Amino acid sequence: MLLNTFPTIESLNEAFDNKKISALELTQSCLAAIQTHQQLNAWVDINEDASLAQAKAADAQRANHTHTPLTGVPIGHKDVFVTRHWRTTAASKMLQNYQSPFDATVVERLQNAGSITLGKLNCDEFAMGSDSQTSVFGPTLNPWDLTRTPGGSSSGSAAAIAAGLALAATGSDTGGSIRQPAAFCGISGIKPTYGTVSRYGMVAYGSSLDQAGPMARHARDLLYLLETMGGFDERDPTSLTHCGDQTNDGARIRSQFEHWHQQFQTQDDRPLKGLRIGIIKEFLENDLQPEVVKSLDEALQTLEKLGAERVEVSLPLIDMATAAYYVISPAEASSNLSRFDGVRFGHRTEHYQDLHEMTARSRSEGFGPEVKRRILAGTYVLSEGHYETFFLQAQRVRAMILEQYQAALAQCDVIFAPVSAGLPQALNQTVEAPTDQWRADRYTLSVNLAGLPALSAPCGQSSGDKPLPIGMQLIGNYFQEGQLLAIADCFQTHTDWHQRTPEL
Ligand code: GLN
Repeated sequence: MLLNTFPTIESLNEAFDNKKISALELTQSCLAAIQTHQQLNAWVDINEDASLAQAKAADAQRANHTHTPLTGVPIGHKDVFVTRHWRTTAASKMLQNYQSPFDATVVERLQNAGSITLGKLNCDEFAMGSDSQTSVFGPTLNPWDLTRTPGGSSSGSAAAIAAGLALAATGSDTGGSIRQPAAFCGISGIKPTYGTVSRYGMVAYGSSLDQAGPMARHARDLLYLLETMGGFDERDPTSLTHCGDQTNDGARIRSQFEHWHQQFQTQDDRPLKGLRIGIIKEFLENDLQPEVVKSLDEALQTLEKLGAERVEVSLPLIDMATAAYYVISPAEASSNLSRFDGVRFGHRTEHYQDLHEMTARSRSEGFGPEVKRRILAGTYVLSEGHYETFFLQAQRVRAMILEQYQAALAQCDVIFAPVSAGLPQALNQTVEAPTDQWRADRYTLSVNLAGLPALSAPCGQSSGDKPLPIGMQLIGNYFQEGQLLAIADCFQTHTDWHQRTPEL
């Protein structure tokens, strides 16, 4: 895979500068590799002409020195971001032929910076799920072991990067969908502070939890993407204004990163000296598989060798987060998905007698079982008589979890946590109860309830002849993305987990 020769944005820029390769050649090679590796089922729409036109424009920009570091960088977009030149389906029959008249803000900003869109990436239907099996296109396969899940819901994004088919990708994270697939595929990903990346043009799931973010092999590459895609957007009513305009916000993240990076460099042999890493007590007492425990322990030892110190912190209500999340997110989903009625948006049934039957049939034909389950649960918890018992209680738990995170973050600089209790599961496993799967999100979703930024980075592999990646999670305080990325970057200069690639 050509991208394995230039695995980072910086190395790719050097190759472009030295005329080792052009954006057009690289794009052609990526598109060919995508065809060769169709069995991964990572991509759901490709438009070669559109990608090649962008590549030619990128080469022209580089030739007349109007480029950015992202000019010519081949990336993919999770199929929940609307795109003008590619279909946007949210991996649902409901939107199977939907063609958007505009680009999502995130896509627009990355394209304006000269990045090449290679196509759209598979995911769980409406981003609901954590193993890619709810996609109408069928599951994405994990490039490390084709019988296993790459995680989800940003399954295609993680698998494509791990397989060397794209240098980076966008993802969305409502309860872990960037961090968990990144961990399962041995790459890095960051869910930024809620409100710092525009949701305009991102198909909505749980609007108070959804956050777009970048995925790539190296933490440093996440920085390049995040500084470009993030920042205030007047078209998103929840977009934060306090960080100023987009240019300033990108600059804020970069200067924060540089600040920490320099600080680490001045403390040569123990770069992370003085950094307090919080370990959540409640996460230690639980269901982690031995291989995950081993890798997380080793990662902590590495961080300690680099100078960081451990502090135990407690989030007493953390075990209520799953219940609260699975009340709030379906409630918001049930409201967001009401627009798919076969009239305003979405699939329309061919067989109906009246308006009521048309809506009912269109929705039952268009949505898959997991999405229907969420709509039912969400409608129930919002209904009269249940609203106080479920929805309001869940919001109270949410507020308390937010406070407990603040108390924990007052005692440390960042929190270290698992991403998932286990290794990527085998695909097509029969799940006893859907709620068992919901419980598997316990390490990631409390971060979304609190709106905090969190990053996932590779920190180990399972043993055996088919090693599977294991990831660690770093959770920071609001607007501390630059710090999280600098710590991960420091970890990655002393480890090589993120550089390992699957044999395909
Ligand atoms: N697995 C979680 C869910 O299904 C999270 C999904 C996501 O982050 N989009 O809700």
